[in-house]
Amino acid sequence: MIEMDRVSKWYGSFQVLKDCTTQVRKGEVVVVCGPSGSGKSTLIKTVNALEPFQQGRITVDGIDVGAKGTDLPKLRARIGMVFQNFELFPHLSITRNLALAQVKVLGRREDEAVERGLKLLDRVGLIAQKDKFPSQLSGGQQQRVAIARALSMDPIAMLFDEPTSALDPEMINEVLDVMVQLAEEGMTMMVVTHEMGFARKVAGRVIFMDRGEIVEDAPKDDFFGSPRSERAQLFLSRIL
Ligand code: ADP
Ligand code: MG
Repeated sequence: MIEMDRVSKWYGSFQVLKDCTTQVRKGEVVVVCGPSGSGKSTLIKTVNALEPFQQGRITVDGIDVGAKGTDLPKLRARIGMVFQNFELFPHLSITRNLALAQVKVLGRREDEAVERGLKLLDRVGLIAQKDKFPSQLSGGQQQRVAIARALSMDPIAMLFDEPTSALDPEMINEVLDVMVQLAEEGMTMMVVTHEMGFARKVAGRVIFMDRGEIVEDAPKDDFFGSPRSERAQLFLSRIL
């Protein structure tokens, strides 16, 4: 579903991604971890062209992300993205938040978009909140709405960038539970997270990044059982 082949990116003279090669198969969950500043956010943002890159090749479902003729808005509409800070529209009700992009980007009829949105809101356990505004919800609830909103676009894959790191501890699990359910239903997912319990439960593979490089890319059990590099061993010893 997602293929990255020797992707490199620079900010001026600073190389933020170094020859990154990996792939995510349909239905696979890949967790990306590594120290702060190692390039995790940049890596996943190259997948839906939120960040351009200078070398290498990325394809998503056969579409060449870096090619000149690629319709990037259309590509982005097919890849769901969930950020650390929810990014709901503060001035719109939860229902409007769920329906807006479906109408504007996919051209769905308003009533269809609302129906689809509310179905997903129900799935994340928040149907009772449909007429509220984002600021009336807890962080964990807002993040579950953000996930429902991304799913309402019928994405072919989902990207998550530290979706629980801005949450109070008691809210982390309600968001992870939704993500676990999604993984078990077969969604293709690339998840930047330090929640290693989540990784152990649903990841197929774990990618460990350090200083812009993919240092390890291994099946979950190999990664947790015997990380090959010293850098990954040190990282794991600090966070587990
Ligand atoms: P991570 O998500 O692993 O914490 P990032 O991908 O956010 O890492 O950032 C990787 C590196 O790139 C960091 O050193 C960061 O300071 C740098 N960086 C990120 N965005 C920019 C930018 N717009 N301009 C210059 N440097 C940046
Ligand atoms: Mg980041």
